[in-house]
Amino acid sequence: MAEKRKVIIVGGVAGGASAAARLRRQDEQAEITMYERGEFVSFANCGLPYYVGEVIATQDKLLLANPKLFKDRFNIAVKTRHEVVAVDRAAKTVRVRDLSSGQEFSDAYTHLILSPGALAIRPPLPGIDLPGIFVVRSIPDSEAIRGWIGAHQAGRAVVIGGGFIGLEMAENLQHRGLDVTIVEMLNQVMPPVDPEMAQYVAQHLTDHGIKLALGDGVAGMQTNSAGGLLVTTQGGKAYPADLVILAIGVRPDTALAKAAGLELGQRGGIKVNAHMQTSDPAVYAVGDAVEVFDTILKQWTLLALAGPANRQGRVAADHICGRAASFRGVQGTAICGVFDLAIASTGASEKALQRAQVTDYQVIYLHPNHHVGYYPGAEPIRLKLIFRPSDGRILGAQAVGKADVARKIDVIAMAMQKDGTVYDLEEAELCYAPQYGGAKDAINMAGMIAANHQRHEHPLAAWSELKAPGVLLDVREPSEFTQGHIAGAVLIPLGQLRQRTGELPHDQVIRVYCAAGQRGYYAARMLNQLGFQTQNLSGGYGTYLQLAAAGKL
Ligand code: FAD
Repeated sequence: MAEKRKVIIVGGVAGGASAAARLRRQDEQAEITMYERGEFVSFANCGLPYYVGEVIATQDKLLLANPKLFKDRFNIAVKTRHEVVAVDRAAKTVRVRDLSSGQEFSDAYTHLILSPGALAIRPPLPGIDLPGIFVVRSIPDSEAIRGWIGAHQAGRAVVIGGGFIGLEMAENLQHRGLDVTIVEMLNQVMPPVDPEMAQYVAQHLTDHGIKLALGDGVAGMQTNSAGGLLVTTQGGKAYPADLVILAIGVRPDTALAKAAGLELGQRGGIKVNAHMQTSDPAVYAVGDAVEVFDTILKQWTLLALAGPANRQGRVAADHICGRAASFRGVQGTAICGVFDLAIASTGASEKALQRAQVTDYQVIYLHPNHHVGYYPGAEPIRLKLIFRPSDGRILGAQAVGKADVARKIDVIAMAMQKDGTVYDLEEAELCYAPQYGGAKDAINMAGMIAANHQRHEHPLAAWSELKAPGVLLDVREPSEFTQGHIAGAVLIPLGQLRQRTGELPHDQVIRVYCAAGQRGYYAARMLNQLGFQTQNLSGGYGTYLQLAAAGKL
């Protein structure tokens, strides 16, 4: 008879709890113990900013399960406030410290799953440990922030870091009535997306009263004369605050794995194979602590997201139970909401491609409505699609808007996971009724623009070629041109173009633009058929303004 499995899980939240529940579904006989050093298991980290903002009113809403439920429903032993402090791989035991009593004991395993998560980065800045400076990782962290706001009647907050947790915290602190400044070292918020797309988010934050201090790193924190805090920056600025949130990212918590002699990867995460096994086949690791393979850039990376952690927990459990389960890697599909705006992305950003020295890529921009314009409530979606001209394969997509952003990116994400091309997006059969989309959905449109470019029916100019020799042709109406145009552009409105082609040269490239790309497309098609060398500037003047504001032109 096969040996009875005795599985120990370290960490009881996203990856750990998923692995535990899946294990039980696969093996009724296994002995499963989950150790969690915190007070809670299976809580919704992703809801913490909204708990601070009191959008989620009570703590119990964050608790998806508790030790009793794990025992009653799954016969899983859950030990909270128990920290696993060492792993003896030769003896196949872990050393556990009961944080309430301080006592330690050993526990044996046949299989061990590490899901210890990540640690908030706390750079050694002067004043980093002052009271009033918080990270947001756990329920106690968010309780402490709520308590501090109440006790100190906090009126001003500085959020350090403009990534998704920083933005969510900014929104929620403002919801609590605080005046919020985000200090971010980069020149953009939302580092995973490209700066011209982040520009929409920055504008939206500013419109909602959040102050942005971009391109400036924090130098330190000190107490000011009034008893509050003062955040000083490398650029010489000082921001008074009653509360500071540190949201500058996380690093994998690998202390236990490292001490146990498990192999770490180049990015500092625990190295695992596709079955989530570490360098010791009896020890699995999942979640924020591990390195994952980026299927687009073909390199190992770190990705602290709940979806991969959950799926990896499931893969580890299945593999322990004898299934040939594999984790297929990541492409970084993510979404963040700020006020009523969503920003989502999947795959590689343009800057990530450039960092990886990939040159075989083409970018398109489009600004369709999320559903047909004639039905009330249509909201624009700003969409950027990146693909590989050599074979049309989709490499990445980013979208910003107030409605249906998640669906657009999710569909593209799924297409990418099936090695989809722009021709697949062009042909995609998607659901449609006036209040939900378009008979020619934004996703189809993105595919059509890209596929037309691939077939040389609608050549696109790269925005980086804006100042290259040639003619810059604006085909909008004079009133639009007067309101703003690209320097050096010649105006011939689309409606007059057929009659005025004599004004255009045949021996130079004509780069056309309109407001959003569509009239430019019509103009380019007409001129190309008449023998002109014409290219359309994708996304039109709207995209130009974003690129210029992001300093990319
Ligand atoms: P965690 O869920 O962090 O769990 C690790 C647990 O292990 C911790 O509770 C820790 O106490 C415990 N532990 C560590 N070491 C030991 C030890 N030695 N002994 C015992 N216990 C130990 N992701 C999204 O996809 N979308 C979102 O909207 C989103 N929002 C987020 C908002 C916030 C504020 C935070 C903090 C995270 C958010 N995430 C989001 C990220 C997501 O929560 C994580 O990627 C996910 O929880 C990782 O799962 P994990 O199991 O690796 O680690």
